[in-house]
Amino acid sequence: MNIILFGPPGAGKGTQAKYLVKKTNGFQISTGDLLRNEIKKNSETGKRIIENMNDGKFVSDEIVNSLIEKIISNPQKREKLIFDGYPRSLSQAKNLELLLSNSNQEINFIFFLNVDKETIIKRIEKRKIIENRSDDDVNTILKRYDTYMKTTKPVLNFYSKKPNFHEIDGALEIDEITNKIDAFIDV
Ligand code: AMP
Repeated sequence: MNIILFGPPGAGKGTQAKYLVKKTNGFQISTGDLLRNEIKKNSETGKRIIENMNDGKFVSDEIVNSLIEKIISNPQKREKLIFDGYPRSLSQAKNLELLLSNSNQEINFIFFLNVDKETIIKRIEKRKIIENRSDDDVNTILKRYDTYMKTTKPVLNFYSKKPNFHEIDGALEIDEITNKIDAFIDV
């Protein structure tokens, strides 16, 4: 089963992805985590990534798509992909469709966790204390939210027409969101 978790920063995609990994024996594909790993390598690419991330901007499709491609082509992860934070733009969504169809796979569920701006700001401020992420300060959060609204909304229009698209209120408690996801998956 391949699943996309879609929504603004702080919507709870990572939390639900971790739950789904356990439930489905799948693999979480967090492009944010993959990019943070690249930064740790201290490479030239890592330097480009951190500049964009700390400015609340997207990292280039070229970098992100190449990270994704390696995972999709891995036969051990086939049909077990839990996407968290990818795709984030229409070109990434189209790239994903192409990569999946090239390997005879499809997306089985798209869950859109919808949350308002105020809830996001409160959640990310809390996460900053726990995870100490450099891009979790209020200014960067606001920029990330604006980037989401501009670039990620067209992805929403693209996916919302699909029959396996489900919108869930992301302001609910973690367990309530999990229950709603389960209700779709468990049929
Ligand atoms: P996340 O951990 O998903 O909140 O992502 C943190 C940051 O990594 C984002 O604000 C972007 O700068 C970058 N990033 C993560 N995923 C993507 C993506 N699919 N495309 C472009 N940039 C991304």
